Amino acid sequence: MEDQNSCRGGFTNCLNAQQIGASGLIFKERFLWEKSREGRCAISIPAQDVAESQLDPSLVGEAPDLPQLSEMDVVRHYTRLSQWNFGVDSGMYPLGSCTMKYNPKTNEVQASRPGFAGAHPLLDEDLSQGALEMMYNLEQYLAEITGMEAVTLQPAAGAHGELAGMLAIHAYHAKKGHQRKKIIIPDTAHGTNPASATLCGYESINIHSGEDGILTPEAVAAVMDEETAGIMITNPNTLGLFEENIKEIAKIVHAKGGLVYGDGANMNAIMGIVKPGELGIDVLHLNLHKTFSTPHGGGGPGSGPIAVVKELEPFLPVPRVVKVDGTSDKKSCTISGDGSIYTLVYDKPDSMGRMMTFHGHFGIMLRAYSYILSMGSEGLTDVSKLAVLNANYIKESLKDYFHLPYNRPCMHECVFTDKFQSDNGITTLDMAKRIMDYGFHPPTVYFPLVVHGAIMIEPTETESKETIDQFIDALKSVAQEAKENPEILKSAPHLPKLSRLDEVSAARKPVLRG
Ligand SMILES: *Cc1c(COP(=O)(O)O)cnc(C)c1O
Repeated sequence: MEDQNSCRGGFTNCLNAQQIGASGLIFKERFLWEKSREGRCAISIPAQDVAESQLDPSLVGEAPDLPQLSEMDVVRHYTRLSQWNFGVDSGMYPLGSCTMKYNPKTNEVQASRPGFAGAHPLLDEDLSQGALEMMYNLEQYLAEITGMEAVTLQPAAGAHGELAGMLAIHAYHAKKGHQRKKIIIPDTAHGTNPASATLCGYESINIHSGEDGILTPEAVAAVMDEETAGIMITNPNTLGLFEENIKEIAKIVHAKGGLVYGDGANMNAIMGIVKPGELGIDVLHLNLHKTFSTPHGGGGPGSGPIAVVKELEPFLPVPRVVKVDGTSDKKSCTISGDGSIYTLVYDKPDSMGRMMTFHGHFGIMLRAYSYILSMGSEGLTDVSKLAVLNANYIKESLKDYFHLPYNRPCMHECVFTDKFQSDNGITTLDMAKRIMDYGFHPPTVYFPLVVHGAIMIEPTETESKETIDQFIDALKSVAQEAKENPEILKSAPHLPKLSRLDEVSAARKPVLRG
């Protein structure tokens, strides 16, 4: 009691409160094992009125060492953990390249419907018609969005889709009778691109983009030859810019018998506006866990379908979901309105085989399906328009405060650097840490690698103008502090539960328990 009173009186005594484990309303919780008390239990029920019977100990084995806690301890523990976490449901999360966007909750609800969530992949086709129909329709929608002929939903991530796409390109050249050795990869491609090409046995030929961050046809023509299997282009590229010369580049590659791989992970910038299939791209992956309503982050699961042109369809993984006319087949359980049945086809002699057990990450497909249906084609187009508008609004609002290496219209993300601040010894990292004190998750830092000290911001389509304005004001204020009060940035963040970590020790001597 006395402690509490004196704490109100002065700052020094407040430290006592911190020592007992509190900082304001943030409680520093001890481990559950330390809080455990013998016999404490989450439920209290009336004493039993039947005789106790002992289980045979040889059958039960030794009980696991679980903490013994009251219901309130457990509820508070998990609620507290959820509050220590920062996510897109708690505030703006402007990470570029990864698209941490808000995903409507209705898509979660649809994905958890018992008929889908409880379906087993070994169920007979007769009993899985709804699941197969959903997969078939989703493939059709993604083919329409990308302007491609066929889609597979099997790959489990963006990079896994790249691998599938490269395997398709590899199989295509093998079938033509001459395997090629190289793949062209510009410096603005995502880092997973060269890794996927290497896994397929190709050597990556790195080329530089022009001064304006855009790949020139000349740079591609200079290296494209008949030993080159194709090119991997990220569009929008990792600078957040649209590759304007893509059609011409595709012509150059096709003229020498090569194929064009498009990294479409960031389809949320061009969906409904540009169809990659019309740009000369032959195979493209999408990240359903970026653009199509599955939360991105936390290590997965993901889903990276690939869409291909007609010539590459035979190489797609099996099984393929196929729609057939079921009206004459009396035995089959036909549930779709038009009497169609859906079936799995394994007999595809040129297929690359399987990319996944069963069919891929089904729950993510459901979220994407629900998202596409609930947005409609106009809604999906608006997503791209708003994502691009928001990013350009931030770029224009901040370009006098932070160095903008490519001063041209951007797509869904914009890239600044710490060049203006580095004279005061302030780095991108310092500013990223400080932005947390303003209540925002830091943007992506030090990526893309082609930009020194990069700060990459992706607001996404869902943030309101008010939130974006607050974020802009926070960054302007950080820029001012970098000039006037650099010390405050050097030791930031000051307000989160943990302040700046010693990153070197954390990497060299990790303390993995608390
Ligand atoms: C995220 C991303 C990838 C990789 O996707 P993963 O699902 O993380 O494997 C590839 N390319 C681009 C452009 C990306 O943004």
